[in-house]
Amino acid sequence: MIETETRLEARFTTERCPGGCGFNVLVSEFSGPLFCPQCERRLPPALRKACSDYFDYALKLRDGTVVCFSQAYIQGEFATLTDCSTNPSSYALENPMVPFPRGLDVRIADIVWCADLGH
Ligand SMILES: [Zn+2]
Repeated sequence: MIETETRLEARFTTERCPGGCGFNVLVSEFSGPLFCPQCERRLPPALRKACSDYFDYALKLRDGTVVCFSQAYIQGEFATLTDCSTNPSSYALENPMVPFPRGLDVRIADIVWCADLGH
């Protein structure tokens, strides 16, 4: 039996953590954007994904407001959400919001849940 082993030599670069904390993280060319351990604990997974993957997401704030958005940018204790809208879902119908064409800043500590809508 012949076993073949393939070793991939990954190249690493230092990049600024996209969590807005100011720390640098070591990133391999295969791993894509990485967050530092503190931001991994602080930010919901779907919100971290929204920082690099333009898609449909929703989150709920502590006051019950549900926001649908396409992309997030983290700055300190706030997440700036872009392309906010009232998605045609029951959440949006129950919680009507006007679109914020220049983004909506929400306090990360007030996010109850965050979801990747996957459509
Ligand atoms: Zn960080």
